[in-house]
Amino acid sequence: MSSMRQLFFIEPGRLEWRQVPVPVLSASTDAIVRPLAVARCDLDYHIVTGRVPFPGPFAFGHEMVGEVIEAGDAAGVTPGMRVIVPFQLSCGRCDNCRRGWTNSCSAFPPYASYGLAAGSRHEFGGGFADAVHVPFADHMLVRVPDSIGDEIAANLSDNIADGWRAVAGPLSARPGASVLVVGGLAQSVGLYSAAAAVALKAGRVVYLDDDAEQRARAVALGADALPLALADRHAARDQFDIVVEAAGDAAALGFAIQSTAANGVLTVVSIHLARTTPVPLQQAYYKGITIHTGRVQSRAVLSDVVQCVACGALRPAPVTHRIAHFAEAADAMDSRGPKIVFLP
Ligand SMILES: [Zn+2]
Ligand SMILES: [Zn+2]
Repeated sequence: MSSMRQLFFIEPGRLEWRQVPVPVLSASTDAIVRPLAVARCDLDYHIVTGRVPFPGPFAFGHEMVGEVIEAGDAAGVTPGMRVIVPFQLSCGRCDNCRRGWTNSCSAFPPYASYGLAAGSRHEFGGGFADAVHVPFADHMLVRVPDSIGDEIAANLSDNIADGWRAVAGPLSARPGASVLVVGGLAQSVGLYSAAAAVALKAGRVVYLDDDAEQRARAVALGADALPLALADRHAARDQFDIVVEAAGDAAALGFAIQSTAANGVLTVVSIHLARTTPVPLQQAYYKGITIHTGRVQSRAVLSDVVQCVACGALRPAPVTHRIAHFAEAADAMDSRGPKIVFLP
């Protein structure tokens, strides 16, 4: 076999299967992985629906779990192993990787990711394919415990890890703290934050969203859920120690700041797409809150997240709204709901 199928994003509303060369090992630390499940990332949804203007064509799909089918002598894995492929490429050797900044590894161009060549400006291939090339596999690949199924393992490579990082650090510094998630644009990441907060024993977990189905999912994850209702109010009824803003608009960001308690921590996991976004910084100053935004350190947090799912504390399954097959991927990628997972 010298060529294989690969799904490409062409333009909003249009995905297309094309033939591409089969990836090959080029270093002793390389591995080739056959995807076993690929999930739609929250960003993917906004790319295919045109809200995020990424120019095609590029290979699509970056939340994935797979089976090693080939490995170099120093890849640290062997054929047959089930592995999570972190969506960001990183080497594990450079200064940034050593600091845990695997989202900006010096060995790769900025934003290096699978399935997002419009961002990284380099094509690393995508998950909707028969095989994916993994460099630095000894560092990159994370083995999947038998207790975690493919349909969950796929989401771990990006969105579950993303939801996790928004609450895990703040909760370990302040065990039992209260957590508020302002839901919206980053549909699954917000829900995964709520699930992670429940798993990590936050004192109280409240999820806000105007979408009743999203609220029902949050309740299934163990959180309290209420409408966001931004038109009616500027802050939550209570102040929260830890706040996650997943809504992606200026009013929601202001609401999140107003709802963060003095000396609290706010993590903005959504991408604010406007060129500039007004921020009520005076409020943040007087309350002394810490505001963090930026891309997840996918590989760096993955081991802890996998462990938390494997031990049964973190139960992300209610977030998945649909399981489909690769053959449906071109048509079903805009499926309404927070998380669709595709099996080959
Ligand atoms: Zn993603
Ligand atoms: Zn690196």
